[in-house]
Amino acid sequence: MDTLIVGFGLAGLAYTETLVLSNKTFHVIDAESSGSSAIAAGIYNPTVLKRFNMTWKGQELHAFALPFYQTIEKKLQHKINFPAPIFKLFGQAADHNQWAVAADRAGLSLFLDATIHSSSIAGVKSPYGFGKLNACGRIDTRTLIEVYRNSIANHYQQASFDYSAVEQLEDGLLYKGIHAQDIVFCEGYAMVNNPFFNGLPLVGSKGQILIIHAPELQSEAILKGPIFIAPLGDDLYWAGASFEQKDKTLATSPKGKAWLVAKIEQLIDVPYTIEEHLCHIRPTVLDRRPLLGTHKKYKNIHLLNGMGSRGVLTAPLAAKWLCDSIHEGIDLPREVDISRFEKIT
Ligand SMILES: Cc1cc2nc3c(=O)[nH]c(=O)nc-3n(C[C@H](O)[C@H](O)[C@H](O)COP(=O)(O)OP(=O)(O)OC[C@H]3O[C@@H](n4cnc5c(N)ncnc54)[C@H](O)[C@@H]3O)c2cc1C
Repeated sequence: MDTLIVGFGLAGLAYTETLVLSNKTFHVIDAESSGSSAIAAGIYNPTVLKRFNMTWKGQELHAFALPFYQTIEKKLQHKINFPAPIFKLFGQAADHNQWAVAADRAGLSLFLDATIHSSSIAGVKSPYGFGKLNACGRIDTRTLIEVYRNSIANHYQQASFDYSAVEQLEDGLLYKGIHAQDIVFCEGYAMVNNPFFNGLPLVGSKGQILIIHAPELQSEAILKGPIFIAPLGDDLYWAGASFEQKDKTLATSPKGKAWLVAKIEQLIDVPYTIEEHLCHIRPTVLDRRPLLGTHKKYKNIHLLNGMGSRGVLTAPLAAKWLCDSIHEGIDLPREVDISRFEKIT
């Protein structure tokens, strides 16, 4: 067997699909404890709406990711991609000018519609109007992972990985009776417990979210004000998220909930009930770039991590970069290669 994949969030799934597309064999181990992918909104948007600019490699990641998910959608015969415009609600009149300038810029013009909309949206507080982003939407990450996992049931096992059970062999490695050429770790923030890679600066950023029921909102667009409010269907909306740097526990807090409620109320003026309060830790990195590459000493142990707050767009191309590096000997882009942190690990 070619590859043992540890972790089946967006990163592990993207790596699995990449191997499938190149006719390679795999086995997945996932603890099914919890993961960032399972609570993410799954929004894909290659722009930074706070600063009206593009994210790192935004256009390239977007161009690669969308066909990737469309292929999976067809294969699984299950709807996971929900294209939807994002309405960026302006916080002040001065935003109009910045929006118009940004919408004129190469790259950004593919996504930002130049029109400044001053019409009101039912149930939404938008005193300064809004701008519309195209080619955006939401991947239903929870369903994607569940349905994909069922489709690979014969190559999947639920278990917590035991790092001490890895045995190096002359022709690969052995893990509890599983013989593989390589291991690829895709553990999200749980990488901090992985003795092979925990020297890398995965800082993490906790996000709390609420799932709300707001039958009068009737929005099919994703709203972006102080937070995102994204439609999930059945009058449910995903509302979030906080960015917390200090607290690295997996517990929601009353303070986090109060913060989210205040932001929701800045954004909408219809009644709603809170259905769920969830949190997880985004696998963010000191220099805000993915963590990809091969262990310094063990050349068959690899890492696919650091998807940050943009896992939906980043994971597919990052998985391809890593796979090409392992199997084709193609150099990883320097910005994502873990060797950039050699001095501190
Ligand atoms: C509140 C919030 C909102 C977000 N919203 C968005 C969004 O709208 N759009 C977007 O693109 N991104 C979003 N993100 C970011 C996105 O969730 C992450 O970038 C992405 O999900 C990371 O995927 P991953 O596979 O690396 O990690 P995870 O999803 O955390 O998956 C890791 C998996 O590894 C398993 N695992 C870990 N350790 C072990 C072990 N030792 N043994 C076995 N299994 C193990 C876990 O069970 C888990 O299934 C959001 C994140 C948060 C927290």
